[in-house]
Amino acid sequence: MIDGLNPSQERAATHDGGHCLVLAGAGTGKTRTIIARVAHLISTGTPAPRIVVITFTRRAAREIVERVQHQLGKMAEGLRASTFHAFCMTLLRRYGDAFGTKNATVIDPDDVNALFKLVRASLRDKSLPKAAEVVKVYSFARNVSVSIAEACARQELEVDVDAVITLCKAYEQRKKERGYLDYDDILHIVASALERDAKIRELVKRQIDELLVDEMQDSNPLQWRLLDQLRDPARLFCVGDDAQSIYRFRGADIRNILDFTARVPGASVLKLQDNYRSTQELLDLSNWLLDRSPIDYNKRLRATRGQGCKPVLREFWSDWDEADWVADDLQERYRGGAAWHDHMVLVRSAFGGRGIERALLAKEIPYRFIGGVKLLESAHVRDVLAVLRLVANHRDDLAWMRLLQLYPKIGEVTAERIANTFVTMDKLEACIADLRKRATALADAAKLLEAVRQGGDAPATVFKKAAQAMAPMLEIRYRNDAWDQRKRDFAVVEKLASKHDTISGFIEEYLLEPMTLSEVAKLDEDDAVSLITIHSSKGTEKPVCYMPGMNPGMYPHVRALHSEDEIEEERRVTYVAMTRAQDELILTRSVRAFSSEPEAEDAYFLSELPDGLVEIVVDENARGRDFRYSAW
Ligand code: ATP
Ligand code: MG
Repeated sequence: MIDGLNPSQERAATHDGGHCLVLAGAGTGKTRTIIARVAHLISTGTPAPRIVVITFTRRAAREIVERVQHQLGKMAEGLRASTFHAFCMTLLRRYGDAFGTKNATVIDPDDVNALFKLVRASLRDKSLPKAAEVVKVYSFARNVSVSIAEACARQELEVDVDAVITLCKAYEQRKKERGYLDYDDILHIVASALERDAKIRELVKRQIDELLVDEMQDSNPLQWRLLDQLRDPARLFCVGDDAQSIYRFRGADIRNILDFTARVPGASVLKLQDNYRSTQELLDLSNWLLDRSPIDYNKRLRATRGQGCKPVLREFWSDWDEADWVADDLQERYRGGAAWHDHMVLVRSAFGGRGIERALLAKEIPYRFIGGVKLLESAHVRDVLAVLRLVANHRDDLAWMRLLQLYPKIGEVTAERIANTFVTMDKLEACIADLRKRATALADAAKLLEAVRQGGDAPATVFKKAAQAMAPMLEIRYRNDAWDQRKRDFAVVEKLASKHDTISGFIEEYLLEPMTLSEVAKLDEDDAVSLITIHSSKGTEKPVCYMPGMNPGMYPHVRALHSEDEIEEERRVTYVAMTRAQDELILTRSVRAFSSEPEAEDAYFLSELPDGLVEIVVDENARGRDFRYSAW
C-alpha cells in the first residue's frame, strides 16, 4: 500500500502492464499519482535518469522533481521533468550534430513576426497577406501537422493560399540561412528526425525506459508524433482530463486522449473517481456546468471532503467596485490571520487582470502575476538582450536590426542593409571593426559591443555591462514610458542570468517558458496572492479563489459565440477555473460591464442557475440598478 493514495490511484501508480492512460476529472489526484508512480518506478529499480516526465509548465516540472526528491533523496538524482519544448531543446543541444542544429539560435514569437515582416518586404509584393496573419497559419499548420492550405481552410481565412505558401517558403529559407529555430521548429525537427532517421531514433530511445505525461488533454498532434516515436520499449503513462482541454487555439487535439487505445493497441485505461480538492458545493456547480454541455463528458465529481460552503456570486455596479471589493476582501481575510498565498484571482487575460492589479497595488497587497506580459518579452529587456544574442551569434540579423535601430537616424532600411552584410562576416569582431568606420551613431554601437566583449561571455556579466552602457540611450527612449520601473527590471534579469553558464542556455530557458516579472521578483518572497490567467492555472489549487468578470459576454467570451466548438472550449475554460478552488469560490460580476448583445446573454453560462446552487449577494451600490439577472 502506497501512503497517501486511494486504491485506484495506487493501481495506476503501480501499473505493471504496458502503456497506460489515466483519464479522470479535476482534482482526482492525477498529478499526485504521476508523482507517486515516478517514486515507485525509481524505488523498484528504474534508474531516475531513464525516466522522462513531461508537464505543461516549468513550475509544474520543478514541483514534480522536488516532491520525488524529497521522498527518495539521492536515489532520485538525475530525474528529469520538463515541458515538451525544454525536453526537445535539450536533445537538440546535446546532439546538435545529429539534428543539424549545432549553432542554431532560438527565436521567440516576436522575432518570428519580425522575420516574416522582413521577408514579406523583401518580396516586394503588396498583395501578399499581412505577416501577422501568415504567422498564425504557419504555426497552426505545424502544430496540427497539416498543410498550409489545410490550415488556411481550418482557420477559415479568406486569403490567397498560394501567396501564403510563397511567404512561408521564403520565411523558411531565411530562417535556415540565419540558423534560427523558431518555437515550433524545436518540436518539429526532433519529431521529424525521429521518424526519418533510425540512428537518431535509437540514440534517443536507448536512454528512456518510462515516459510520463501530465495534462495530456492539451497536447497537440505534433507532440503526439513525438511520443509515438519515443515509445516502445519506453512505456507511456499519460494522465489527463478531456473536460479541461483549453488549448485548442494552439492546436491541442483531444483525440490524443480519446483515440489513445486505438493508437496504442493493448494500452490500459484507468479512471479515478474521487475529488480530493474541493468541497461538494463547489463541485456541484462545476458538475452542473458540464451537464449543460451538449458533449457528454461523463464526469460527476464527488467530494471526498464532504460539504463546505456554497459558491458565492456577488453582483456589483461597476468593474471598479468589483476589483475594490476583491482587494478589500483579501485584506480583511489577511487581517483575520489568513496567508496571502492561500488566495488566487483567476482572470481571462493579462489585460483583463489590470483592474484587479490596480486595486491590489492601491491597497499594497503583495501579488504575483502569472501569465501576463513576460519579462524577457518586454521592449527594454529585449533591447539589451539583442546585445547578448550578438555576442552568442553575430549572424543574428534580427538582433542587429533591433540594436542598430536604437541609434539616432538609423531606420529599418539602413539597419537591414547593415545586418545583411554582417551575417556574411565570420566574426563579431569584423562587424565591430566595420561599425567603427561608419557614422558617429554606429561608431557608438561599436564602442558598446567592444565594452561588452571585455570581461568574458558569462551571461550575467555581459547583461550587466550592456544594460549599464545602454542606460543613457534607453532612458531617452523610454523617458515617457515608465523608465523608472523598467530600469529596475535589469537587476532582476541579471539575477536570472547569473544562474546560467552560457548566453544561449540562458536565453533559451526563458524563451521556452517565459516568466513574468512579478513571478521572478517574488520568487523568494512566498507570501503573495496569485493573480493568474485561467490558461496558466492548470493543475494549481488554492483554498480561496476569486473569478471576477463573470459576466455575459465574458463566459463564454463574445468572440467565441460564432462557433459551437469555441463555446465548448469556453465552457472548459470556466470549468478549469471553478475547479481550482478548495474551500471557497467567489464569482463576481458587474452590471455595467454586461454585454449588450442578446446572443451573449443567451449563451451566458450562468443564465439559468438553479435555486440554491450558489449564494447571490448584491452589493449596496448595485441595489435597485437595472439588473437583468437579479430576478433569480
Ligand atoms: P487537476 O485536474 O486540476 O490537474 P489532479 O487530478 O492532478 O487535478 P491533484 O492535483 O493531483 O489532482 O490532486 C488534487 C488535490 O487532492 C491535491 O491537493 C492532492 O494532494 C489531493 N489528493 C489527491 N489524492 C489524494 C489522496 N488519496 N489523499 C489525500 N489527498 C489527495
Ligand atoms: Mg494535475
